[in-house]
Amino acid sequence: MTATGQQVLVHEKAASLSVAVDTFTVLTYDTAGRLLGAFWRGRHYRRGLNHRIREKWSERVDGERVRHQRDLSEAEKRDLLAQFDRLIEDLHEALAAGRVTVLTGEAERAWALLARIRRYDRLALERDAERFRSVYQPIGILPPDQYLALVLQATEGCHWNRCTFCDFYRDRPFRAQSPAEFRAHLAAVRAYFGETLALRKSIFLGDANALVLPSHRLHAVFDAIQEAFLFLPEGLTGKDRAAWKRAHPIHFEGIYSFLDTFSAGRKTEAEFRALRDRHLRRVYLGIETGHDPLLRFLHKPSAAAEVVEVVRTLKAAGLQVGLILMVGIGGERYAAGHVEDTIRLVNALPLGAGDLIYFSEFLERPGSEYARQATAADLRPLSPPQQRAQRAALQAGFRFREPEHPPKMAAYDLREFIY
Ligand code: SF4
Repeated sequence: MTATGQQVLVHEKAASLSVAVDTFTVLTYDTAGRLLGAFWRGRHYRRGLNHRIREKWSERVDGERVRHQRDLSEAEKRDLLAQFDRLIEDLHEALAAGRVTVLTGEAERAWALLARIRRYDRLALERDAERFRSVYQPIGILPPDQYLALVLQATEGCHWNRCTFCDFYRDRPFRAQSPAEFRAHLAAVRAYFGETLALRKSIFLGDANALVLPSHRLHAVFDAIQEAFLFLPEGLTGKDRAAWKRAHPIHFEGIYSFLDTFSAGRKTEAEFRALRDRHLRRVYLGIETGHDPLLRFLHKPSAAAEVVEVVRTLKAAGLQVGLILMVGIGGERYAAGHVEDTIRLVNALPLGAGDLIYFSEFLERPGSEYARQATAADLRPLSPPQQRAQRAALQAGFRFREPEHPPKMAAYDLREFIY
């Protein structure tokens, strides 16, 4: 129940809404009123469009901050969302009765926004997730800087699908959408998101390796995207750029995608440049390690030398690169080779500003092919402190060509992905 005298901030931004109550509770929504996330009773929640809700919190244990995260069960989701519904309903009614104070802006506007949020109550969110699932195949994973991208599934699944540590796409065969299917997908995506497209500034071409398609198929895909969506013109800077963005709230700044390095070699610099001319901006490569024996153990048909070739080609074509390295994979047996060869590989790459290096701490999934093979090979996993030490050793060994403009480096926690 909303207490008389509470202070409420209903904040309307260009692409999202938030409701803060006495600063202890903050709920965020897209502009249609769908719940995106919350800070509630000391814990953080993020809701995906597929209705998954991830809870995160931390606590002090022996003076150390320990972080936790987990998915809520169906019953927990119902309970949490019912509490949010009651809060919004109470606020809405209290605002109409003048029992709460709106901190900024007009009370009438706040009331209208709360009415919009009320339309997306728990049941409406469940129905919306059904609709989302009719538009998309499950979205396996995205790079962390692309969590808010607009995903377009030009292909489904992974055309290799046999790396022992990866089960993102085991549930479906690789297939490319036909041009007609992809246009229908674009129309369905536009209709689903509507005005909330304004929240998304990049396009991510899914799933695992859409860029493996031959160039003529990719040109058709990229051309269809450009017919459907507006892109920020290149060369705009400063005030002109800001004014253009304000005038076009729904626009995109580029297209991004994963690519595997073992099939990427088939495309030339000219082919990648033609995609760059069609707004491709950064390509993400899950290279995992520069240690070839470890790649063989992982059943990934790649080699460090191929990565060097692919990255040089991408950079020569004017594209940015996002590398994903795994930390802890291969356990103690492969640790020294993994660190040494990955440093050698990264130092051979022309990486700089705009490029990214992600460190993904390896999470062994019980029952996975990796787990079976690791047990058979008697591999001892690295402990969390050993994994942290491995990441530090990798980073300490990197030498970039322009030390004053290095690539950005960050952690990549796969558990945090939610769409
Ligand atoms: S190529 Fe990538 S997506 Fe495909 S199985 Fe290997 S790690 Fe997974």
